[in-house]
Amino acid sequence: MLLCYIDESGTPELPGTSSHYVLAGIAIPIAKWKTYEGEIRKLKANYGLANSEIHSAYIPRPIIEQNKIKDFEMMSYEERRMAVEKLRSDELYKLQSTPKLHKQYQQTKKNHKQTEEYIHLTDNERKQVLIDLSKTLGKWKDVRLFADCIDKVSFRQKFSDQNIEEEAFTQLISRFEQYLKIYSKTTKDDKCGILVHDNNPTMATRLTKLMSHFHDKGTKWTTIKNIIEVPFFVDSASVNMVQMADLCSFALRRYVEKRESYLFENIFKMADGKDGHAVGVRHFANQPCDCLICKSHK
Ligand SMILES: [Zn+2]
Repeated sequence: MLLCYIDESGTPELPGTSSHYVLAGIAIPIAKWKTYEGEIRKLKANYGLANSEIHSAYIPRPIIEQNKIKDFEMMSYEERRMAVEKLRSDELYKLQSTPKLHKQYQQTKKNHKQTEEYIHLTDNERKQVLIDLSKTLGKWKDVRLFADCIDKVSFRQKFSDQNIEEEAFTQLISRFEQYLKIYSKTTKDDKCGILVHDNNPTMATRLTKLMSHFHDKGTKWTTIKNIIEVPFFVDSASVNMVQMADLCSFALRRYVEKRESYLFENIFKMADGKDGHAVGVRHFANQPCDCLICKSHK
């Protein structure tokens, strides 16, 4: 049995805040779950993040208050946290006291919230958390990465009436199903898979219906024999492996959008491969593309 943890990066809307929408899943054999979960917990605890959610898109954001604190790097995690919190509350107080800055106050409060779990880590340490986590994932030889990276403009030009999130989900689970079928054949051991999806209230009902339909009719690529049930939707804040799927989708998006490779090079090793081709990950783009995903995907 494999558990496939799924999360997204980027916005599905056009134009949205990203050029790409990425959905990624990591499939973990249940017999290894305890070991791998333990590795992630230990690593998070080393950075003072035991009870924090790894939200990969927020972690690398600059925390400008840190530059204003003398000897920040020499302080303990607790001291750093207190010093940043003090500056932040002073700033919010100032904004709140000026009625014409109300909008800026709301936005600043929101920005603070997104990074509040990580304020005790320097820029380098925050980057290093993601690198360490991606390297840990890259060492898991029996875990497979499945993903769909969609260039939204190219997709809209070709399929004007299709839903990007549904397309990415269909692609991902079709590849996971193919993997389970091949795996079952070669090992003569029937492998089943369960989908554990980050809770997305707007899509949960649609994806549940879609999966139910796939059980009856199959996807446009494959029948569904080895994936069981509809996706189980969970809160990413309390499920480490969903946070790791978030890290993978973020790394893939940063690679296809900016060719940023410091995380990508670690996690792309997990892509399901066949005859030397990384069939588990696709980059949908209209133009001929020279990225490693397109080169390896046949
Ligand atoms: Zn490409």
